[in-house]
Amino acid sequence: MGEELCDIIMALKITEECINCDVCEPECPNEAIYQGDEIYEIDPNRCTECIGHFDEPQCRQVCPVDCIPVDIVETKDVLMERYERLQKEIDKK
Ligand code: SF4
Ligand code: SF4
Repeated sequence: MGEELCDIIMALKITEECINCDVCEPECPNEAIYQGDEIYEIDPNRCTECIGHFDEPQCRQVCPVDCIPVDIVETKDVLMERYERLQKEIDKK
């Protein structure tokens, strides 16, 4: 049996439809969004789908052109481990 559907969470990416409006970057609680060479990008090692902070991905909520679709599938456990790692990094600062 595969994993329960409710445990499946998707990681996000920003597509080339991005208009560089800069609205999403300050909303990310994990500092996962940054200005790339041409458009904004998401660091997959920092994106937790906002797990640990919010119920919904904040970047998707604010993007005016809806250009942050699902990219790869990650489980809640993986995202929670990432959240905990990031929290440890913050605590060390
Ligand atoms: S889903 Fe949340 S953690 Fe991931 S990039 Fe968007 S705002 Fe940041
Ligand atoms: S909110 Fe959407 S359009 Fe604006 S910078 Fe972020 S990804 Fe690009």
